[in-house]
Amino acid sequence: MVDPKSIVDLEKVKMTERLLDGSMPEPNSGCWIWVKADDKRYGSISIGGRLKKAHRVSFECFVADIPEGVKVCHSCDNTFCVNPKHLFLGTQSDNMKDMSSKGRNAMQLHPERSSLRAVRTVRYGVDHHLAKLTPEKIKEIRSRYQPGATWNKPEGSAKALAREYGVNDRTITRIVRMETWIDAALKENPNV
Ligand SMILES: [Zn+2]
Repeated sequence: MVDPKSIVDLEKVKMTERLLDGSMPEPNSGCWIWVKADDKRYGSISIGGRLKKAHRVSFECFVADIPEGVKVCHSCDNTFCVNPKHLFLGTQSDNMKDMSSKGRNAMQLHPERSSLRAVRTVRYGVDHHLAKLTPEKIKEIRSRYQPGATWNKPEGSAKALAREYGVNDRTITRIVRMETWIDAALKENPNV
């Protein structure tokens, strides 16, 4: 018999993949910026045809279930961030107080002030898979990538590079195609 809990966990593992695929780590803040954002204030993710807030889904996947009526707040102030380490549970009034009293150093103030503190144990590995790539490696990947690589000449294919750099194929494709924070870093310091 299948343990229903294991099905739930499997769904969550799949969802964590989507969260990682849809976000970009920002090295200075540690935020995982949701890049598929289509809402003005929060990132959203479609689950079974319904749009849910991406940061709430991240909290549910990586940290704990969210009790009825409870908000998920950001310690980093970036509402598009889905890094579970930057999320904590708060009540609506916490959220309001938080927003009005918060200065730039909010990160140090939280999450201790929250009356409903989140379980801080994160259940799955939360190192973002793009975070292991340095700007140098990104540059290498871009110069070695061969869009015309085929099965009998796989050198430079997304698959081959993915294996070599320990990330997945889609990550390579995104690096090759997308403007990322890494591009900004390279512009500032073109010698890396
Ligand atoms: Zn953040």
